[in-house]
Amino acid sequence: PGPLTERGPAKIIAMCNQKGGVGKTTSAINLGAALAEYGRRVLLVDFDPQGALSVGLGVNPMELDLTIYNLLMERGMAPDEVLLKTAVAGMDLLPSNIDLSAAEVQLVSEVARESTLQRALQPLTADYDFVIIDCQPSLGLLTVNALTAAHKVIVPLECEFFALRGVALLTETIEKVQERLNPDLRLDGILATMYDSRTVHSREVLARVVEAFDDNVYHTVIGRTVRFPETTVAGEPITTYASNSVGAAAYRQLAREVLARCHAE
Ligand code: ADP
Ligand code: MG
Repeated sequence: PGPLTERGPAKIIAMCNQKGGVGKTTSAINLGAALAEYGRRVLLVDFDPQGALSVGLGVNPMELDLTIYNLLMERGMAPDEVLLKTAVAGMDLLPSNIDLSAAEVQLVSEVARESTLQRALQPLTADYDFVIIDCQPSLGLLTVNALTAAHKVIVPLECEFFALRGVALLTETIEKVQERLNPDLRLDGILATMYDSRTVHSREVLARVVEAFDDNVYHTVIGRTVRFPETTVAGEPITTYASNSVGAAAYRQLAREVLARCHAE
């Protein structure tokens, strides 16, 4: 990717699939880190009460007093009080922990409840080139908030037998949010993850995903490798943990594709 010609306002990307274990959190961390390597300023938003994204960046969610929950629910809370720097230059984090699970219930009675995250992120967008929201595995109110705040959605799909199950419901949800709350929302792409080239099965699933989604599928395919679970334990992205690995190269390629799709707009 070429040098930056202009900064922000940030493109906001929601990493979304209501299925768990498909690579959302891994992709948020490593796409973010790869974009930061390319000189972009990146904000990662942990929007899952499990706090896996925070853990993956070496933060212990249990020890946090202030999280994205406070930014969402407390008027007048300054984002700086919640923001954390990460070990990756140019990449910051809004962490979360189990507190966020209360927001799902509390937001129900809020005015304009679907756009609470959008309002909370608003003061930050001038400071970043990309904001990446790691969604929880559900299509509930938190995920609708992420979709309402976002310009683009990335849908990671695991190359497994039931990968496409539930995707229709997901695309329906994206379309509803687009119609009713956020006309700017676009599906940026489907990301095939945990691909195992040695199995016929993985290749068949990938072929079916491409058949179903065509140009919406990124050319980048993320292979299955034990390196990714290792990075969680290490608390850092694969781009620094194993900089020369195939996995790091794959997320750099994804970053270039995401940048190219942005420039094509
Ligand atoms: P999600 O956020 O969708 O629940 P995660 O990113 O947490 O998914 O991934 C689920 C598990 O799979 C984690 O243990 C993660 O380390 C592992 N994982 C993610 N991507 C890969 C991959 N490409 N190959 C092997 N394991 C992976
Ligand atoms: Mg996750």
